Amino acid sequence: MSVYDERPWLALYGPGIPREIEPEHENMLAAFGEAAARDPDAIAIRYFDHPMTYRELETLTDALAAGLQDQGFGRGERLAVYLQNVPQFVIAMIATWKAGGIMVSVSPMLKHKELAAQLVDSGSTALITLESLWNTVGREVVPDTQVRTVITTSEVEFLDEVPDLLAGARRERDEDVLDLVTLLERFRGQAPDTPSLNGDDIAFLTYTSGTTGPSKGAMNTQRNVVFNAQVYRDWIGLGAGDVTFGVAPFFHITGLIGNLAAPLLSGMPIVMSYRFDPDVALELIERYGATFTVASITVFIALMNAPSAEERNIQKFTKIVSGGAPIAPATVEAYEEKFGAYIHNIYGLTETTSPSHCVPIGTRAPVDPDSGALSVGVPIFNTVVRVVDDDGNELAAGEVGEFVTSGPQVVSGYWEKPEESESAIPSGRLHTGDVGFMDEQGWFYLVDRKKDQINASGYKIWPRDVEDVLYANDAVREAAVVGVPDEYRGETVKAFVSLKPGQSVDEEALIAFCKERMAAYKYPRQIEFVEELPKTASGKILRRELRDRAISGTGA
Ligand code: AMP
Repeated sequence: MSVYDERPWLALYGPGIPREIEPEHENMLAAFGEAAARDPDAIAIRYFDHPMTYRELETLTDALAAGLQDQGFGRGERLAVYLQNVPQFVIAMIATWKAGGIMVSVSPMLKHKELAAQLVDSGSTALITLESLWNTVGREVVPDTQVRTVITTSEVEFLDEVPDLLAGARRERDEDVLDLVTLLERFRGQAPDTPSLNGDDIAFLTYTSGTTGPSKGAMNTQRNVVFNAQVYRDWIGLGAGDVTFGVAPFFHITGLIGNLAAPLLSGMPIVMSYRFDPDVALELIERYGATFTVASITVFIALMNAPSAEERNIQKFTKIVSGGAPIAPATVEAYEEKFGAYIHNIYGLTETTSPSHCVPIGTRAPVDPDSGALSVGVPIFNTVVRVVDDDGNELAAGEVGEFVTSGPQVVSGYWEKPEESESAIPSGRLHTGDVGFMDEQGWFYLVDRKKDQINASGYKIWPRDVEDVLYANDAVREAAVVGVPDEYRGETVKAFVSLKPGQSVDEEALIAFCKERMAAYKYPRQIEFVEELPKTASGKILRRELRDRAISGTGA
């Protein structure tokens, strides 16, 4: 028996945190149905000033599911949701399951090529999106996919008054596609023919940028989702008296589980505001007495630095956890000084359906004296994390290796990619690509990240995606993209570029070229022109070397 099987971290669980939990439901639909039946008049959603009860959410999701089935959408089909943080996201998610389908969660920041890749890979047959995204991106992409039903909606739907944040938003409905609210009205009062779902049914396909090759759709099952929704509830101690501030992007696994599934299972309201704006966020947190969120650390940094931070009373906002990217201990201290609440580190991946580790509520994460890294916490209920060397041998406490995670939240694989699934998750043990160690007590620390992946405010960027776009510019000879430290985003994108002989392009023009062709979080913020990029003997560009030089300030 190894040190990991002995699970030394269990001794660190806070009071009231059970060691093991039993999933109470086979699927999220049953969990949501129970919460809705318990108190149908409770508020499920607050979108700016608009409240929506659990009863209304049941009615609307029945109507949409019936409408989807009327369109021929059937069991196991994929419906892509390409939306910001709006109520329609939640309606689409639950309705997809009521119609027996799988939701494909697509980032609203994706541009043409990126959206096309996910729609085609998932074989989505239906798409729900914002009118603005349909008109600027979706309309050109969909004809080359299997999507046959398109439903659009607007961010100003449901609102009595348009908030400043959405000023300028206008209806631009396309007559060729279905309108969500019209469909909801048409099918209101109708019940879908919901097939019985079980724990192995896929709830979401969530696309990861992966450690190698193209993006892959992690298959988060209904059981994975219910389990980690319960983890949030029972670890943090959430109940109907709590209020979620839904600020993590809903499409990402953190938003899906921490900001949507967990509150829906617990019968809590979810406050949402289209996209994150720190002053709007503070106002809504205060107005609705939000008590809980999970978000990237950049959200907490922005709240601290918002112009209105001094005026707002957000004393109830204490059940706060942050994951997705490294957290500097100084940030946790500064936030606590400002608002009096302690930020708990939480760690996981898309493939672990959100957390595998969390800092026990009521305790404080230790800081590794050598590296200064804040611990990411301890493995959550029913979860074992081993640290292994390159040959898969378990390492002793204190030794650095890769985290290999097993537990009820680990996905079984990637959509239609059996080989990649087998190599990343052999026998249910996920090779995370994250490198770190466990100390004697059972606290885990992350030392380094997956190879070259860039993490800007929690958004994961695969350098090759950016390089491919740079290479599309006529003047570019070679390009290498790396992550460099950034005070606000944690890390940001820097490109090293060499130009073709006789060609010229300046930094501003090349950045603009990239900006036009990729999601906003991806385009390079800095470009450095060099004569030659450093390479290995076999001709591979040495990204690591460029990154080290960029960090040390010596240039290429
Ligand atoms: P994603 O699949 O987008 O959720 O990204 C997962 C990756 O984010 C992990 O493999 C880590 O590299 C990183 N990550 C997640 N949580 C943390 C955390 N609390 N601290 C540092 N890095 C994190």
